[in-house]
Amino acid sequence: MIRFESVTKKYPDGTVAVDELDLVAPSGEITVFVGPSGCGKTTSLRMINRMIEPTSGRVWLDDRDTASVPSHELRRGIGYVIQHAGLFPHRTILDNVATVPHLLGVDKKAARERAYELLERVGLPSHFAKRYPAQLSGGQQQRVGVARALAADPPVMLMDEPFSAVDPVVREQLQNLFLQLQAELGKTIVFVTHDIDEAIKLGDKVAVLRVGGRLAQLAPPAELLSRPADAFVAGFVGRDRGYRALGFTVAGSLPLQRERTARLGQPLTQAKEHAEDGWVLVADDDEQPQGWLCLDGLADSALATEVAPDMLNLGGTLAVESGTLREALDAALSSPSGRGVVVDEGGRLLGTVTASQVLSRIEQHRSADGSRQGVEAAP
Ligand code: ADP
Ligand code: MG
Repeated sequence: MIRFESVTKKYPDGTVAVDELDLVAPSGEITVFVGPSGCGKTTSLRMINRMIEPTSGRVWLDDRDTASVPSHELRRGIGYVIQHAGLFPHRTILDNVATVPHLLGVDKKAARERAYELLERVGLPSHFAKRYPAQLSGGQQQRVGVARALAADPPVMLMDEPFSAVDPVVREQLQNLFLQLQAELGKTIVFVTHDIDEAIKLGDKVAVLRVGGRLAQLAPPAELLSRPADAFVAGFVGRDRGYRALGFTVAGSLPLQRERTARLGQPLTQAKEHAEDGWVLVADDDEQPQGWLCLDGLADSALATEVAPDMLNLGGTLAVESGTLREALDAALSSPSGRGVVVDEGGRLLGTVTASQVLSRIEQHRSADGSRQGVEAAP
């Protein structure tokens, strides 16, 4: 557990970067610090490993006041990842990762073995090991940065905008990798970002900071979206928050319609018999959906052909049965037929659901929440 107790940082020029911060980042969880540029995120993070010393207040690591722990000893148990990975440019990828455990007294061979293992874990096959940082893409360098921070197996990880400098597709891959690793490792993580979507995706708890380093709200992501503490937080979490909040509600058993399917290679006349409102879903022999086929307005001559891949509309997203209301609604809204396709974990068709059916499920959740809040509010 990391605990900020009335922590203030005033820089020599008078800037108050952090103002009376009180906050707990629980063990084994991801706590995200989010807020606009200059609100004191980096300053707060660096006070945990004493790269910056507080002007007043204390930072506790479990039951130890960090001010009483020599900083080199403190940092041994704290991994640190920054935006541009901060790799040693003249050392190979392998040496970049192996250096830390080696410095901590692990023998060279064992340190290198551990480095190979970690590189593989972050998705970098062994042929990358001999390269130098400049020979890697930004996203690959960040993977090395994560591997290096994990090399000493520290219980605590501090991450300062580690995925901000890469393109959105790579960022999403890195975020997913990070969540996977954390599910296995269960580190105590403080993660800094200015991106509210990233905060909501990654955080077990999210601390929203405002300029001047004051805590505006600390809450799990769903609560931040549904109950922002004030106008600043509401503005910062932004539009679409009602829609995004659906991503935290498991859809549960939606009323599914049975959907009759057609097959590729089937005569169109036969496929047409299975169509409803002009659309039929094409699936493979394992009932995995392939796409929608529109049979409205086809000339009789066209009906003489067979169902071919290039006739399919691939517009609809698939919702997994165990997924969220957001996925279910998106499947319905994006489906060209208006019928959202729901599949099981193996990707096999279970049935379809319309947007209005998902919306009535959302309404049910709302009224259930409402009555719960009413009970809470009662004396
Ligand atoms: P963030 O990471 O949220 O963008 P920082 O913690 O880097 O914010 O900075 C918080 C505030 O402190 C900003 O106003 C910044 O300009 C100021 N600041 C940061 N470092 C220093 C410094 N060494 N000296 C003076 N002011 C600083
Ligand atoms: Mg910063």
